[in-house]
Parts: sequence; C-alpha cells; structure tokens
Amino acid sequence: MDHGTIAAIATAGGPIGIIRLSGPRAAEAVDAVFRPAAGGKLSEKPANFLTYGTVCIDGGAALDCCFAVHMQPPRTSTGEKMAELQCHGSPAVLLEIMNALYRMGIRQAGPGEFTRRAFVNGKLDLAAAEAVSDLTAARTAEAAQNAAAQLMGAVGTRIRQIRDELLEMVAHFHAVIDYPDEDIDPFLFENAQEIIHRAAGTLYHLAESYERGRIMHEGVPCVILGKPNTGKSTLLNTLLGRDRAIVTEIPGTTRDVLEETVRLGPVLLRVSDTAGIRNTVDPAEKEGINRALRTASSASIILAVFDSSAPLSDDDLMVMARATGRTSIAVVNKCDLPSEVDMERIRRQFQNVVPISAKTGEGVECLTKLIPHLLGLDNAVFDGEMITNARQAAALARAASRCEEALFGAQSGMTYDAVVMDAEGAIAALGEITGQNVTDDIVDKIFSTFCVGK
Ligand code: GDP
Repeated sequence: MDHGTIAAIATAGGPIGIIRLSGPRAAEAVDAVFRPAAGGKLSEKPANFLTYGTVCIDGGAALDCCFAVHMQPPRTSTGEKMAELQCHGSPAVLLEIMNALYRMGIRQAGPGEFTRRAFVNGKLDLAAAEAVSDLTAARTAEAAQNAAAQLMGAVGTRIRQIRDELLEMVAHFHAVIDYPDEDIDPFLFENAQEIIHRAAGTLYHLAESYERGRIMHEGVPCVILGKPNTGKSTLLNTLLGRDRAIVTEIPGTTRDVLEETVRLGPVLLRVSDTAGIRNTVDPAEKEGINRALRTASSASIILAVFDSSAPLSDDDLMVMARATGRTSIAVVNKCDLPSEVDMERIRRQFQNVVPISAKTGEGVECLTKLIPHLLGLDNAVFDGEMITNARQAAALARAASRCEEALFGAQSGMTYDAVVMDAEGAIAALGEITGQNVTDDIVDKIFSTFCVGK
C-alpha cells in the first residue's frame, strides 16, 4: 500500500544535517532540490553511492554543497525507495529544503514512521523495532550492545522458536482431532508437556531478565546517607571523578538533594548526595533532612556512610535504622585515619561493609565493583536477551503463566483441549511481542513514543 513519501530531518543539530526520505517519490523529490556536480539527476545515478552536488531550490543560487544518495528496495531500512541528503547542518538550509519538499506533496514523517514502515514491510519484527529507541537512548556501551543485538533479532528469533514449537504442537493436536481417518502420528501428551515445560522455562528466564534490563536501561536510584561530616559529598565527588559537591569541615553544608549520574561498568547509578542526618532545630536543615529521608525511601540502593575515625553516635544509629532491610552497603569512610568506630556493630547490621577512604581513593574500587554485583549485573551477558521493554516483559510473563497453567492442567488430569487452549493463549501472547498478533492501536502507541526521523 502506498502511504506516500515522507521526509524528516534525521539529525539533532551538529555540523552535519541529514534529511531522510522514504516512499515512491523519494529520489525524484531530491532531484528537485539537488544538482549533481557531474550533471544529470540523482535518480539516474547508481543506487547506494554518494553523489556530490549542490542544493538549489526553485532554480535559485546554491544554498549548500552536499552529498545525496538514493536506495532501492528491498535493500533499504524501510523496505521502500529511500533517499538522503547529507548537508552542512544549518537549520535554515534544512528548513528551506523541507519546505521545498512539502510544496512537492512530500509529507513530514510522524514519530517513528520510518521504523514503523520497516515493521509493516517486514524488515523488522516489533521487538526489533522497539530496540531502535533503546539504541538511541542507550547510555552505556552494554545497554547499546544489548539493544543492537535485539535490533538484529535476538528477542524475535528466540520468541519465534518457542512460538513455532507450541504452534506445531497445537496444530498436531487439532489435526488428530479433526481428521481421525487420516494417517497422522498420534498426539502424545507427554511430548506436548515436554514442549510446554521447555517453553515455560525459557519464558520465565526472559521475563525475569526485565528487572536487570530495566536497571541497565533506566539507571538505578542510589542515595548517599549518613550523619554530617562522614564524607558523603567527598564520596560523590570521588565516584564522579570531579568536584561536584561542596566539601567542607563544617557539618550541615549539604542542605538539598544533589543528583548526579555515575557509570559503573554496565550500571548507570543515579546518585543523590543528601543533607547529613542529625537531630537539629534549624528549620532549613530539618527540611534538608526530611528530603534526604524521602529520597532514601525511594532509592534502590542506600550507601550508608560512617566515619571510621569516630565512635558511632545516635545519629549513626538513625542512619543504620533507615538502611536496615534495604539493599544497602555500609561505607566506612576515612579508613586512612586511625580507626575508632565499632566495626563489629556495623557488620552485625549490614551484609555488605566496605572500608574506604574517599579522600585517597583506597577501597573505592571495591565499592564500585560491589554495586553491579548487588544488582546482578556484574556477570550479565548483553546478547540481546536482557529484556528492557515493559510491554515485552508483560507479554512474556503472560505467556509463561499460560504455559504454567497448561502444565498444571495436564498434571491435574484436565482434558487435552483445555491444556491446548492454555498453550494457544501463550502463543497469542508471544505473537504480541514479535508483532505477529498485535492490533493497530498497540502499534500506534508503540511508535508514538519514537522521535521524528527514526
Ligand atoms: P559530608 O558532610 O558527609 O558531605 O562530608 P564532606 O564530604 O563534606 O567531608 C567532611 C570532611 O571530611 C571534609 O573536611 C573532608 O575533607 C573530610 N573527608 C572526607 N572523606 C575523607 C577521608 O576519606 N579521609 C579523611 N581523612 N578525610 C575525609
């Protein structure tokens, strides 16, 4: 179906500005605004080769010297005819070109419309299409690696394998029931159970990866909590590798919550430095402490900082109480000074205790390795099988639980067709992930979150 030719500025500022077009008139539209230096038209040049020339609009003077290229299906990312203009990134020039294209009836691409066309034309399954936005937003090399593998089909391939096996099993069942006189192999319930069991195992494994995938993709909220002067701000600066927070000997310097992002291998830590916890009557400090406690209650990891050069105080005990029962690390700072702190008491309270000196850097590496370990990301494999997408995770969980229901039904003596119905439910949920079984509304919703030009 011809949905027309679309165009968008595909770059977000910078020295090069790329305009992409997709649709039947892509190359011809570029012909109207681009003159190859060697003469002729872009559409007459061989596909996939860059042609040098100038941008001229309505026969006017050259506005830019640039490259252009056209590509022919099926070897294009959208599966349609495509063209690109690679200009010097002047927004004014890019806008002039876009306006000239609109005058020719070329339409501005909607959010994610290029990727949507790739999906509609069978160049990508839905899981791979969703990986495009993960790849654009990736903030660590590991997140990019996982998204790139998904874009190349890691999730879709795995899901299709499971779905095909279930589908074959269900089709066999129906064939045996519907054509009793045909010479079809008998339907063996044990075989069916084995297939469903295998599917459930893989699906649960994939669904469970979502927690780690989400952490990898979105980052982990982490709070630095401690009484004043334990070295919280120094720790934030050490983790960041630069002086971000003000460090002084005067207790109560940090009043507000200061959030920064620290990359620890595959983990993106969203660290909040907070006001020192202590009993105070100062209203501004009190508000700072309240904010610190609120931030701590929503954080995924608490770094509870203690001063190893001083005995534990009531304020330290308050910090301990806040960290109890949570994913936390006791960071016993100032280990470069003679120790006065009750380490036994700290060890009784915390599973993870790391002595460090935020000042000299001693022990900091141990801390930065422990955090990915606590989040289950230290030995993670970023081969695309780490699910980062809530929609996919929900469909996986639904498919896995239908498989489990099928197995439960089989074991509790339900009829074959009741068990097969559950397997069909799982098949439908798996089809939602790859897009084999998905409504237009859901597709609209998915691509509406994309940026224009993707
Ligand atoms: P905060 O109030 O908990 O944020 O503490 P700061 O980071 O402002 O540090 C308070 C004081 O402790 C400053 O004088 C720092 O230089 C000092 N300090 C912080 N970390 C260390 C450390 O590891 N060793 C030593 N000797 N001093 C430190």
